[in-house]
Formats: sequence, C-alpha cells, structure tokens
Amino acid sequence: MNSSNKNLQELSIFGGQPLFQEKLYVGRPNIGDRTRLLERINDMLDRRWFSNSGPFVQELEQCIADLLGVKHCIAMCNGTVALEIAIRAAELKGEVIVPSFTFVATAHALQWQEITPVFCDIDPQTHTINPWRVEAMITPRTTGIIGVHLWGQPCNVEALEEIAQKHNLKLMFDASHAFSCSYKGNMIGNFGDAEIFSFHATKFFNTFEGGAVVTNNDELANKIRLMKNFGFSGYDNVTYIGINGKMNEVSAAMGLTSLESIEEFTKINYSNYKHYQAEISDIPGITLFPFNESESCNYQYIVLEINEEETRISRNQLIKILHAENVIARRYFYPGCHRMEPYRSYFPHAGLLLPETEKLAERVLILPTGTAIEELDIIKICQILKFAITHSEEIQNRLSLNVLKTVLVNS
Ligand SMILES: *Cc1c(COP(=O)(O)O)cnc(C)c1O
Repeated sequence: MNSSNKNLQELSIFGGQPLFQEKLYVGRPNIGDRTRLLERINDMLDRRWFSNSGPFVQELEQCIADLLGVKHCIAMCNGTVALEIAIRAAELKGEVIVPSFTFVATAHALQWQEITPVFCDIDPQTHTINPWRVEAMITPRTTGIIGVHLWGQPCNVEALEEIAQKHNLKLMFDASHAFSCSYKGNMIGNFGDAEIFSFHATKFFNTFEGGAVVTNNDELANKIRLMKNFGFSGYDNVTYIGINGKMNEVSAAMGLTSLESIEEFTKINYSNYKHYQAEISDIPGITLFPFNESESCNYQYIVLEINEEETRISRNQLIKILHAENVIARRYFYPGCHRMEPYRSYFPHAGLLLPETEKLAERVLILPTGTAIEELDIIKICQILKFAITHSEEIQNRLSLNVLKTVLVNS
C-alpha cells in the first residue's frame, strides 16, 4: 500500500483486504537456538532432575548474576510470585507507594498480602514514578516504595534512593521490562533492596514462564531462597513460612538458551526501533518514546504517544484500524491500576492525584517488534498510520456513519 494513492475503501476496516495475512502481535516470543534447547531438555530427561534447584537453574542464576554484576539471583516460577516473595521477605506492610501506570501485577503483589498499594503519579517524560510526587504520598503507615522501570526505561533511581533513605523506607524495583538495561552505566538489578524480573513468554528474555529476584543483600537473599521453597533449609527442616516459587528445569533450559542470544535479540530490537523512528519522525501528532542510546537497553517496546489534537483521529480509532489490518497494536497499561478492581472500588477518587497517568493511559499505543518483525513490516505499519492521519476527517465521517447505520438497524 502506498499512502498517497490508496483509497479509503481499501482500508480493511472498510472492507478491504488486510495488509498482513497473518496477525502481527506485540510480545511474540523470542526463541534462541532450537537445537541447543532440545539438547538441554534431553540432558534434563536423562538426569531425571526436573525441579528443586536443578543444575540448569543453578547455572542460570549464576549466569544472570554474572551478567548483571549482582551478588544474588534467585530464579522463580514467574515475576509475580517473585515480587510477592521479595515484598514479604523485605517485611513490607501497611502502605507501599507504587505507580498506577504499570502492569496490574505490581499492585496485586501487594494487595494479595493485604498491603495497600498507594498509587503515585508518573513523570510524563520518562513514564516512571515521579519522585517529587512520592514524598507527598508518604503517611505513618508507609513502609516502602516500588518503582517500575517501565519499557526498560530506568526510574529516577537516585532521587528515589534519597527519599527512601530520608524516610527510612524500603526501596524495590519491578524490573520486569528492564532485563539487560542499565542506569548511569550500572546494570539494572543493583539498585534498591532488591529488583524483580519477569521472564514471561512475552518479555524480551523469556523462560516460558519465570522470573527472578536479584539483590546484593546476603540476608535478604537467604530469606528469599528459603521462602520460595516452603521454608525448607535441608531435609525435614522447615525454618520459615514459605511458598512454592521454584523455577523448573525446562524453563531454566530455555533461559540458558535465550541468554546465549540476547545480544542478537537486542540488535534486532534496536534495528526495529531505528526503522520505526525514521518512519514515525514525519508523522504529525505521533511521537516514539525515546530511549537513551548511551545506556544498555533491550528496546523491547515500541511505545507511541498519540496527540489527538494533532492527529485528529483518536488513539482508539487508530488501534481499530490497525487491528483490521492484522496489526495487533496494544494500549498498555490502560486504564491504569487505579481504574481496575479492586482498586477502583477501594479508591474511587485516586485519579484526582494521577493526572499524568490518566493522560498517558489515553495516549499510548504499542506496536509489534522483536524477532518476528522485519523492516518491510515496519514500513507498512507506518504507512497505515500515515494514511489514517492524512485521511482522518474522511475516516471519522465514515466511522460515525457506520455507527449510525448499526444504531438504525438495531432500533
Ligand atoms: C510481566 C510483568 C509482571 C508479571 O510478571 P509475570 O512473570 O507475568 O508474573 C509484573 N510487572 C510488570 C511491570 C510486568 O510487565
């Protein structure tokens, strides 16, 4: 499709052929060397050691600790359980300050253990928790802050550390998006009391399902190790209340294999990011979230901000148009945790203190990237966007006409 000579009716939303025959998804899993993975799984079957800190889990923990330059890595069954265990081991209680603009698991990991997530607004530049707003949310019940390195963009770590220290609060980071990213030249994983990764299938580095807590605190690491294995410290000896948070060996085999390819995954993501940047730079009203290229970054999210006043077509309409063309764009993390249950009922007025969160939740559009996408796909995706914006008025008219027709037919 060429945006200049395409007719409106060629858009799939108006009955044309979709631009892509197969759906393009956000978060299509990256796969490393298949043969190596299958070899490892074979070894595992020969060994008959499937879980309980098997050799692959031990090796993966060591490799991750080395990669990040952090003392302890404790692999887990998923990122959410890793968060829950880290929160419990750090003895957070009462209230913990978190951004609302995050995946709901950040808030759930607290509420699940009856700790109140207190939602703090974000900095519209970085999309991460605004340290200058954090202080205003502190009460006598506050015990900690959990920042989220959203999209792999690190929080303002230094400012948060200062506030945590000043008010004697624990500081942790949900680093689910920030595996192999850096902050001021130091790898994410080294900040706060602990940082938590998700290795879910949709993340840049995946172990099918999985996660990890990393920390430089020996005592905390030891506690977390016990907690993720029912509190067992040797045969028959339970020293702690625990849960089952263990990573299995197939996941660790996937992790070790993916780890061998992360440079390649990063290279592809970066190249996609640059292609998107080139294509999007001349679309009025659309900006691409800029990553700091002087830091390590995994470039796993292509984050657009849609300024409706300029595009004259809404973010939600653009998503409908893209979906019809088989580009399954997403609106992460709409509508914000504070507008989801149970938080919406608990804190019906939370939005009043979250103006930037509410604004951003209406503007963000995530596009597919990763090893399943190629340059030509990116050019085509951006052509749809350009076309939609160039013809926004006609599209709006036609869409409202369609709505009107449905109303008339149904009445
Ligand atoms: C994916 C994700 C999680 C949850 O991780 P799982 O491994 O899916 O449990 C938590 N927080 C954020 C910000 C995430 O993106």
